[in-house]
Amino acid sequence: MHCPFCHAVDTKVIDTRLISEGEHVKRRRQCLSCHERFTTIEKPELIMPNVIKHDGSREPFNEDKLRKGMKHALEKRPVSTEEFENAVNRILSKMRGTCEREVISSYIGQCVMEELRELDPVAYIRFSSVYSSFDDIQDFATAIERFIQSEEERKKAKAEGVEVEKKKEEPKTPTYRL
Ligand SMILES: [Zn+2]
Repeated sequence: MHCPFCHAVDTKVIDTRLISEGEHVKRRRQCLSCHERFTTIEKPELIMPNVIKHDGSREPFNEDKLRKGMKHALEKRPVSTEEFENAVNRILSKMRGTCEREVISSYIGQCVMEELRELDPVAYIRFSSVYSSFDDIQDFATAIERFIQSEEERKKAKAEGVEVEKKKEEPKTPTYRL
């Protein structure tokens, strides 16, 4: 790698260590010409799929947008930064895990809803009210009612010490277009 200071061609690695729990490699380098030192960080290049929007147009996957949408739903809710980051990371892994070049936007929406449901019921309702296209207020009210009912069943089962299988809606398999 070229020296960022004098642009000499030869630099040597003087120290190598793992950072971010072993996910990245940090290297300390020194220029053989001007002897300046600098650091490089190496990480795997993981390709995110493009997103197919409702109107059929494509856009690059936008992590910022994902975070903003989730943060908005979680505003003033008792969810720690760590829990939030873990949820974001699980979604990102899922996206990379598809190994597809394109993924429909509704698949991302479902993944977000799945995570929010576990994190915080209020955030879940907030997000689904924006995300799901309810035709009218009655549809929305029905959805909330159903959600409250299933949450109560979960709580009740938990209180009785019965581990019931969560009625978790698996996100539909993403469909792809050429
Ligand atoms: Zn140099």
